[in-house]
Amino acid sequence: MNNKLYGNLIFELSHSGRRAYSLPENQFGHHTLPDFCKREKDAELPECDEMTVVRHYTNHSENNFGVDNGFYPLGSCTMKYNPVINEEVASMASFTDLHPHQPIETVQGALEVEYNIQRALASITGMADVTLNPYAGAHGELTGLMLIASYHQQRGDKKRTKVIVPDSAHGTNPASAAVCGLEIVEVKSTSDGLVDVNDLRPLLGDDIAGMMMTNPNTLGLFEKDIPEIAKLIHECGGLLYYDGANLNPLLGAARPGDMGFDVIHLNLHKTFSTPHGGGGPGAGPVGVCEKLIPFLPKPHVSKTKDGFVIEDSENTEEFSTANIRISGYLGNFLVILRAYTYILTLGKKHIKEVGPFATLSANYIKECLKDDYELPIDTLCKHEFVFDGLKDKSTGVTTMDVAKRLLDYGYHAPTIYFPLLFHEAMMIEPTETESKDTIDGFIEVMHIIAKEARENPELVKGAPYNTPIGRVDDVLAAKHPILTYRQLINDTEESV
Ligand SMILES: *Cc1c(COP(=O)(O)O)cnc(C)c1O
Repeated sequence: MNNKLYGNLIFELSHSGRRAYSLPENQFGHHTLPDFCKREKDAELPECDEMTVVRHYTNHSENNFGVDNGFYPLGSCTMKYNPVINEEVASMASFTDLHPHQPIETVQGALEVEYNIQRALASITGMADVTLNPYAGAHGELTGLMLIASYHQQRGDKKRTKVIVPDSAHGTNPASAAVCGLEIVEVKSTSDGLVDVNDLRPLLGDDIAGMMMTNPNTLGLFEKDIPEIAKLIHECGGLLYYDGANLNPLLGAARPGDMGFDVIHLNLHKTFSTPHGGGGPGAGPVGVCEKLIPFLPKPHVSKTKDGFVIEDSENTEEFSTANIRISGYLGNFLVILRAYTYILTLGKKHIKEVGPFATLSANYIKECLKDDYELPIDTLCKHEFVFDGLKDKSTGVTTMDVAKRLLDYGYHAPTIYFPLLFHEAMMIEPTETESKDTIDGFIEVMHIIAKEARENPELVKGAPYNTPIGRVDDVLAAKHPILTYRQLINDTEESV
C-alpha cells in the first residue's frame, strides 16, 4: 500500500484546471449575491480528476482499523461485532428521510421505535423509565448528574454539592461531575480492586449528592459490596449513579435497578453493538427509578390511547432537568435504531448469552497469558481484566512497546495506561463475538511478543514496523498538532 498516492494530502495532488465534477446547467436565471456574502478570494480547493480522488480516499480508507478488519480488544470500549442487519435498518429511507419537525401523525413508526426501546432498556436495566436524548456515555453522565442535582434542589436540600467517585473510575466520571458544578470526592479501592467500604464511610454526610459506580468496574471486577454501598448512600440522603459502560457482562444476568441504583446511563454504542471509535457516533440513554421520572429531560416519547406523543418541557422559570433540553431532539436516532435492531435480533433468550460468553473469553485470555504478563489481581474477572505490563520487568520493554508491536501483527492494541491504578496497565476486553480461533491467535502473538522482549528487547522497543507511520512522537503531536493543510504549508515554509 506504499504507493505514491498514499501519504499525500489531496491538496498535494492538485493540478490547476483538473476537474472531477461538473455542475448541471443553471436553469434558474442569473442571480447575484450581495457583496457581504461573497468571499474576497476564491476558496483554495484541490483540483483533481475523478480517478485521483477515488484512489486517494480509497487508499486512505484502507488504513482504517476497525472491528470489521480485525481483533480489537480495547478494554472499556466493548468493540463487539456490529451486525450488518443493524446498518440495513438504519439506512432505510423510511427512517433516514424523516424530519424532526414533521407532523406527529406522520412519524408514528419512528416514535414507536423510540418508545419500544425506552421500554426494552428499562426492562433490561430494571429502571422505571429512560430518556434516549444524550449523545454519548459522558453526555449521559452529565444528564444523570444534573438530574440528581435537580432532585436535591427541588427538595430544598441545597447543601448537597459533592459526588463520590472511585479512584478506578473512567475519567469522564469526575469530568462530568465537574461540568455539572459538583465537587469530586475520591473513594479508594482495596488491594482486591473493589471500592473500599471503610474508606467510603467517613466521606458520607448531608453534603453528598450521590456516588458514581461502574459495575463491573474498570478492572473487570464485580463490585460485590453494592448492596451495602447502596444502603450507606441512601441513608445519608444521596443517590447512587450507575455508569453502565460495562453493562455487557451483566446483560440478562443482573440489573442495576435491582442493585439499588437510582440513575444509570448506558452506552448503546458499546453494549448494543453500534459502530463507534474516533469520537462517535454514540448514544447514552439515561434510566431512572420511579421517584426521578418527573426529572427526565424533554422531549420524551410516551404512549397514549391515540398513539405515540412527544411530551415537551413546560415553559417555566423553575430549574429542573425536566425543563431543559440536553440535546436538540430525541437523541441520535440512527444509533438508537441500530441498538433496537440488535436487541430484537438477540431477543430475550439470546441476550442472556452475551454476558457469559464475554466473561468466558476474558478469563480464557487472562489465564493463558498470566505466565508472561503481570496479573496484579489474580481472580475471576467479568468481561475484561488488567495486566500490569510484562512479568519480566528486566527487559525494559513497556506496555507501550507491547501495544505498538501488536500493530505489526495486525491486532489493535488493548487500552493502555488506564486504569491509573497500575503503572503499566494493559486492559483487555475481547467481547463475546470473537471466535476461539481469533482469541487463540491473539494469545499466541502476545506470547511471541513476550519472547521477543526477552530475546531482543530493542526489536519490540522500535515497533511498529509494518504500519504506514512508525512510532510517533506523542508529546510533539500533543504540544504542536498540525491540524490543517495551511498550517502544514506555513510550517514547511518556516522551517525552510
Ligand atoms: C466509554 C466509557 C465512558 C464514556 O462513554 P462515551 O460514550 O465514550 O462518552 C464512561 N465510563 C466508562 C467506564 C467507559 O468505559
